[in-house]
Amino acid sequence: MIGLDEIVKAQSRIAGQIRRTPLVSSRGLSARCDFPIHLKLESHQSTGSFKLRGATNAVLLVDDEARQRGLVTASTGNHGRAVAQAAAAQGVRAVVCMSALVPSNKIDAVQALGADVRIVGRSQDDAQQEVERLVTGEGLTEIPPFDDAAVIAGQGTIGLEIIEDCPNVELVLVPLSGGGLASGIAAAIKGKLPRTRVIGISMARGAAMHESLRAGHPVAVEELETLADSLGGGIGLSNRYTFAMCRDLLDDVVLLSEDEVAEGIRHAFTEGETVEGAGAVGIAALLAKKIEVRGPTVVLVSGRNIDEARHGQIIAGGHG
Ligand SMILES: *Cc1c(COP(=O)(O)O)cnc(C)c1O
Repeated sequence: MIGLDEIVKAQSRIAGQIRRTPLVSSRGLSARCDFPIHLKLESHQSTGSFKLRGATNAVLLVDDEARQRGLVTASTGNHGRAVAQAAAAQGVRAVVCMSALVPSNKIDAVQALGADVRIVGRSQDDAQQEVERLVTGEGLTEIPPFDDAAVIAGQGTIGLEIIEDCPNVELVLVPLSGGGLASGIAAAIKGKLPRTRVIGISMARGAAMHESLRAGHPVAVEELETLADSLGGGIGLSNRYTFAMCRDLLDDVVLLSEDEVAEGIRHAFTEGETVEGAGAVGIAALLAKKIEVRGPTVVLVSGRNIDEARHGQIIAGGHG
């Protein structure tokens, strides 16, 4: 398990390379829930998602020799973009492997950062196989998207900022896919405020961590198209960290329908925020009344990288 110490070290290591994002009060959600609701806007993070934190911490920990050979990752988009930027910032070459399901705006963004993009297969697992080939065959160093100590510690820095800005927080809602984000934040929050609840939120379509927690071990789930595309993909059958951390640290996991995710995106827009599906699930869970709020609550808004046309359709009332 990754503890508070590693997260505190990550915070000073990545300071200056990432944005300290704002915590803002949500008037609309506070009125609905009868308690103060705050949004932690990692959608304002450079690269448009929180993933720059974990990627930057991991890249800074790679030794010089490995840096010269280069870095590689598989990604549904946001992690690839973050690794591309973190690598570029250190002058290191990065290869990003993605499946054909990844939206083109995300592919373009990674290429624009100077990374070498390879499109392979139709699932995250296919992309991951290409990564393993490049690690074994060409000696590249993998920066994994979630199941990695340095990545988890980097994401955990969000938890420290939440406590700095809202010391009386009683509940934190975190989008949940592979669980690097939820593990890091929960480790930071529970390390400092053991009584504060941390709840993970996934879409019902392909909720790999939820299925794994129910089974008591990591299981494979079919990857389905969803509005919360950044939450797609499995947790890895030989998961090392995030399964156990989510099992031990999360108080609950809540699942959402596609309609509910769309409602979250629309609500965020009424508060002036453009948010992708994965980033809107915390808001959506509150709107759907799937969470019991008993005190000051922080909702993590994890990213904003959504295709503009699709976003427009959702705001207009469709699903895109
Ligand atoms: C990756 C991602 C998540 C989920 O993070 P995990 O560490 O895989 O659980 C949530 N929201 C956005 C926008 C993401 O890019």
